[in-house]
Amino acid sequence: MRNFEHITPPDLESAVDLLSERGTKSIAGGTDLLPEMKSRLRSPRRLVNLKALEELRYLKHNARKGFQIGALTTLAEIESNELIREKIPILAQAASVAASPQLRNMGTIGGNLCQSVRCWYYRAPEFKCWLKGGDTCYAIEGENKFHAILESSPCCAVHPSDLAPALMALGASVHITGTDEEGTVSLEEFFVRPKASNRQMTILGANELITEVQVPMLDGDSSGIYLKAMDRKVWAFALVSVAVQVSWDKERVKGARIVLGGVAPIPWRVPAAEEIVRDQAITEEIATSASEAALEGAQPLRDNGYKIALAKALVKRALMTLAERAKK
Ligand SMILES: Cc1cc2nc3c(=O)[nH]c(=O)nc-3n(C[C@H](O)[C@H](O)[C@H](O)COP(=O)(O)OP(=O)(O)OC[C@H]3O[C@@H](n4cnc5c(N)ncnc54)[C@H](O)[C@@H]3O)c2cc1C
Repeated sequence: MRNFEHITPPDLESAVDLLSERGTKSIAGGTDLLPEMKSRLRSPRRLVNLKALEELRYLKHNARKGFQIGALTTLAEIESNELIREKIPILAQAASVAASPQLRNMGTIGGNLCQSVRCWYYRAPEFKCWLKGGDTCYAIEGENKFHAILESSPCCAVHPSDLAPALMALGASVHITGTDEEGTVSLEEFFVRPKASNRQMTILGANELITEVQVPMLDGDSSGIYLKAMDRKVWAFALVSVAVQVSWDKERVKGARIVLGGVAPIPWRVPAAEEIVRDQAITEEIATSASEAALEGAQPLRDNGYKIALAKALVKRALMTLAERAKK
């Protein structure tokens, strides 16, 4: 790891000011950034320590605004919060299956949404892959068991966050503060497919911070589920995950948001599948059609064709489970 300066700013404004200097990076729990620095993937000259900004560590709920979650709230705090477990359990479920208890104690919701991809070519300093500014995505022709089956060009890494699909299914937004302006954007706007002019998976500028995650109030009769398939039982990134949030009119679906993880460089919302379940009572046939629609257009690489069947099975299982619960 290269030498760096570590600054603890007194407040958010100073943190944002410090970030506008070149070679400066924010650090929250450090569970993703420090490994990147150790392997020299990133070598910032200066770190701005967000952890001391208590003003970013809160979890509020009210009947009008829904949830407001400060960016420094840890995954462990989200997982164990009684109100989250009761009102938006899908988020607690997603947090509870992310990483390990130690990492969840350190890792924050802001850092989780901004973490880098886990692609082994990206993580290996000896490969200058496309995402790191090179010409080639080595995984497209190389080892791609864990990579994207949708939108797999020019980079076929997948977004690794468990919280992101759950939050997107809940219709969440992030509040962003920078030196020039601040504002709130939906997660659909926040996550972007990487392109040559912006080789990252979010719209966040170098001097911008997520300060808050906002989850709107849900319809009265609403339920959700987060399912994650892993190649071992704990402490693994999703091979595929699905987050489904449904609002009900008795046993009929009023509206649904269905988001896949582990299949694309960004959390992947599937409107075609949502449309199939809208205004329907979910039967096995409907759930199967929705799962087919969710994966329409999928183009597996050499080693990851299994993800298509896996994702379909998860979508179907999620819908059937929610339908069963709605009957009770
Ligand atoms: C072994 C291992 C297994 C893991 N498994 C999973 C898993 O199964 N599921 C999962 O979802 N995650 C998993 N993770 C990732 C882990 O959850 C993230 O590393 C963690 O959530 C990041 O939070 P942090 O606060 O530590 O971020 P940091 O490491 O401090 O920061 C990560 C990045 O986000 C930026 N950042 C941090 N906070 C903000 C902010 N408020 N605004 C803007 N940018 C910010 C930093 O500059 C940095 O670029 C795993 C990590 C490890 C090491």
